[in-house]
Amino acid sequence: MNTPLTIALSKGRIFRETLPLLAAAGIEPADDPDTSRKLILDTSQDDVKLVIIRAADVPTYVEYGAADVGVAGKDVLMEHGGNGLYEPVDLGIARCRLMVAGPEQGVSRTRRLRIATKYVQSTRRHYADRREQVEIIKLYGSMELAPLVGLADRIVDLVDTGNTLRANGLVPLEHIADISSRLIVNKAAMKMKHRRIAQLIDRLKAACGN
Ligand code: AMP
Repeated sequence: MNTPLTIALSKGRIFRETLPLLAAAGIEPADDPDTSRKLILDTSQDDVKLVIIRAADVPTYVEYGAADVGVAGKDVLMEHGGNGLYEPVDLGIARCRLMVAGPEQGVSRTRRLRIATKYVQSTRRHYADRREQVEIIKLYGSMELAPLVGLADRIVDLVDTGNTLRANGLVPLEHIADISSRLIVNKAAMKMKHRRIAQLIDRLKAACGN
């Protein structure tokens, strides 16, 4: 029997787009997390389990070794700080951009710009690099609403097609980072389960063409 392996994934887009890559690595989940309430899913391989958790929690599970590997968006990894993790494969999925956006007409500047975002660390670094002092307001969702109701002048959010911004009268203003999902690996697991994880890395690299 192979060394057991636990893979952390979040529901939704990352799960859907990771499935074909895992299938190419010979791993197919026994349940669909969108319909099942199970948080630990068996797979076509007895010794491989999937744990289904919130996207922002994936790096924490992997860093602490509760999962050996995981799939997380670069946006989440940039916020997490990623010291305790390896990031060996850019899977090239769930691609989008982290951007500053705001109303087309701009804002009058009698005080510091207020930026609403759930990406507080990335926003802080972006404005620190530009040597601009801003006030950052932490939100947990629907950032686009903030400029419409006067909570903030600008937002920092993920942009894919730009439809969400357009629908709310906002335009992209500054590019912060290109985002895609990455395979992340616990540092101890990389040593202890090296053969198993190296094989998974090779297969995923081959499947995503990176
Ligand atoms: P869009 O309207 O296509 O520009 O998509 C923007 C909305 O979808 C925003 O609410 C984003 O937070 C979300 N979004 C876009 N791309 C991603 C992604 N790769 N992962 C998670 N959320 C995303």
